[in-house]
Parts: sequence; structure tokens; C-alpha cells
Amino acid sequence: KRAEDLKHAFEPAITQDGHPVEVVANIGSIKDAEEAASLGAEGVGLLRTEFVFMERPQAPTEDEQTGIYRGIAEAMGPDKPIIIRTLDVGGDKPLPYLPMAHEENPFLGERGIRFGFDQPELQRTQLRAILRAASAGQLRVMFPMIGRIEELRMAKAMLEEERQQLDLPPVEVGIMIEVPSAAIMAETLAKEVDFFSVGTNDLTQYTLAVDRGHPKLAPFVDGVHPAVLRLIDQAVQGAGRYGKWVGVCGGIGSDPQAIPILIGLGVRELSASVTMIPSIKAQVRSLDLDHCQKLAAQALGLETAAEVRDLVPLEED
Ligand code: PEP
Ligand code: MG
Repeated sequence: KRAEDLKHAFEPAITQDGHPVEVVANIGSIKDAEEAASLGAEGVGLLRTEFVFMERPQAPTEDEQTGIYRGIAEAMGPDKPIIIRTLDVGGDKPLPYLPMAHEENPFLGERGIRFGFDQPELQRTQLRAILRAASAGQLRVMFPMIGRIEELRMAKAMLEEERQQLDLPPVEVGIMIEVPSAAIMAETLAKEVDFFSVGTNDLTQYTLAVDRGHPKLAPFVDGVHPAVLRLIDQAVQGAGRYGKWVGVCGGIGSDPQAIPILIGLGVRELSASVTMIPSIKAQVRSLDLDHCQKLAAQALGLETAAEVRDLVPLEED
């Protein structure tokens, strides 16, 4: 099966009834980008830039970051979209050289974009690096942990200020949908972005109020829970009202049982770990959009994650 999938890795992922799905990669480095390109990824749906920051003793300079973002665009090819998520630290992801204040509830504290506002120079340096690298390909900026429209506006204002100073062309801007309020308010947020990418890992933990890394409770953090699917549906509907597209970069984007449902909900792009790309493309080619839409409609009406999983039996290899 793996060999067969690899043989077709460079062909597009189009359903039986002709509906294309973009299959892109979650990466953390230039090396990942090279591997993703070699496995047929159609772009990068999520560059977790915190890995660029964590693998060194101090924050990378603007020039260093520009070089890395440009290197990733070059590894993927100039026509491939590259979504660069701004630094997403805090919560479970510390930065050793940037001591953070102790918080009682770090997952509800200064993480993601909130950390970016607390350390504006770090955020601005990164935005400048992305803008400067943008001429190497189709670079897009994505902000993590947006929960309120004021946060989006502040983040966009920072980006625009740096852009004007550098006198460079604008880049597309998207946000992670990983805080329940963002999914609920999707229609409002959609007016002011180019795209959404659903971070189902955080969206699930915040929706079900279960720590995604909890030793006992983590098994209940299942992204196909109908509560999460309804939020994804809301995000897609809200985006659609303004002609914006929605991808999924959280774990269920590479879950074979979730993929038909996500496609049925109207998700247009799946961003997955690099090694999963060929098999996801193969699965998309085996699907039928019409059938996926029926599955999605049914799943939204179910009561438990287990019922949703029963709805989509796993194919045997
Ligand atoms: C997510 O929350 O689903 C996501 C993709 O972001 P991360 O896993 O990096 O928090
Ligand atoms: Mg997240």
C-alpha cells in the first residue's frame, strides 16, 4: 500500500467526483520542507516557527529568520503556498532563553499571540523576516490562538506597520481557529482574514476542557467529538459567507476516520505530518464528495465521538 501511495505522491488529490483537496505539510525546519517536497506535499499548511526558536540558545535574528523562511520556500518551490505561523510559545511550549512569568493556568495564559503582544519586538522582528522572505515564494502569515477580533486587528496592525516601513508588498493573512470563541465568531473574523486553519488539537482541548497532554484524560481529547465538528462546521460556514477558505492543521487532519467528514464539512486543505502526505492523497482519491457530505451531516447529529468513529469504519490494509 505504502509503495503504491508513493508512486502517486506527485499527483493531485482529487475525489472520485472531481473535487480537489489541497494536501500540505506541517513542518518545523528546512529539512522538513525538503522531505515534504520529496513526498508530494503541495505546500506548507503550518510552519511551527517555535521549532526555529527552540533549536538554538537564543532567539534567531531577523536575518537568520529571513534565511530560514526563504530556504523553506525554495525547498518547496516558488509556486507552493507556505503558511508561516508566528511564534506560538507559552502553555506547553517554553522558550528557555525567554523566562516567562509563572502562571497558575498557562494554557489560559500568555500563550500564542498573547505572548507576541507581551514581547512586541520579538513579534515585529519575525513579521519583518517573513515579509522580507516573501519574494522567494507564496508566503502567508498565520496568527495562533486568536480568540477575539481585537487580537486579530492588533496583530494585523503590527504586520501592516512593519510592511509599510519596509515598503514591501502585502502578504495573505490567516488565523488558527483553535479557541472556541474564534469558531463561534468565525463570520466576524472571516471578514478580516484571507483564510482559516483549524487547530483541532487546541480546539478540542479548549472545547472539552481537557488538557491534551493529560496522562489520564488525554484519550477523551478526540477531535471528532460532535462538539468540535459543529465548531468546525461553524468556521466553514462563517468563512464561506465571505468567500474565504478553511484548512485543518490539527491532528485529525491526518486521521483517516476524520478526513471524509472534514471534506464533507467543506474543508479545502489538509495539513499533515510529512510522512502521512502520500497516504492522505491516496485516501482523498478514493472518496466521493457527495458521500462525504452525507457522512458529515450525519456526524453533526451524533452524540459521542465513539458514534462518529463507528460511522466511518477504518479501511483494512
Ligand atoms: C493545534 O492546536 O491543533 C495546532 C495545529 O497547533 P499546535 O499543535 O502547534 O498547538
Ligand atoms: Mg495549537
